[in-house]
Amino acid sequence: MTENGDAIDGGPGGSPDDSEPDESALDEDLRVPSCERCPALVESRSRIVNGVGPADADLLFVGEGPGAKEDERGEPFVGRSGDVLDDALRDAGLARADVRITNCVRCRPPENRDPTAEELANCRGHLDAEIDRLDPELIVTLGKVPSEHLLDRSVAITAESGEIVDARIAGASRRVLLSVHPAATLYDRSQRDGFFETIARAGELSGTGGGESGGQSRLGEF
Ligand code: SF4
Repeated sequence: MTENGDAIDGGPGGSPDDSEPDESALDEDLRVPSCERCPALVESRSRIVNGVGPADADLLFVGEGPGAKEDERGEPFVGRSGDVLDDALRDAGLARADVRITNCVRCRPPENRDPTAEELANCRGHLDAEIDRLDPELIVTLGKVPSEHLLDRSVAITAESGEIVDARIAGASRRVLLSVHPAATLYDRSQRDGFFETIARAGELSGTGGGESGGQSRLGEF
């Protein structure tokens, strides 16, 4: 590990070569314990907000970056956006504990501005290493910024939400499902059904959903 804490960048990262991987060790291996590559974000953050969820999850959600609540609690997608995501997961027969959730940048930008291109590039190694280690069945991008970042093109997210594309990410071709950010449903109620349908589809495509809460059968309630 470098002084910048590039714990999950480049290479296997020193895990013991056990035939039965230790889950907590795997999760620890996905964390970035320290990093100071983005001076403005180092200034504005309280902490690094690492991804949460199983280190072998089949479904990975990728957001833009931590907001105030996430920075405070040290977990991605908490607060009102997180509540919407949790509701959609529950409706799809999923629990937050079933999936992994991470961000393009792990430190809160000042005044909740978008991360700059340089900051996104700085943090890409951390994200790619997490994706490489996790090797999920499906990546769901939550919003325009992570969609454009991972697909490396402009994305009209409202129009393209729900679409599945293959993209080369972290050294492999990966299936990506585009989605609006959960906060979009708070600003525009008409986006709620589409968001819930997209999350239900994510559960089906990754083979993760289908729990007792009933998935798409309840979509009409929203
Ligand atoms: S956003 Fe990423 S690259 Fe930038 S300081 Fe935080 S952890 Fe490091």
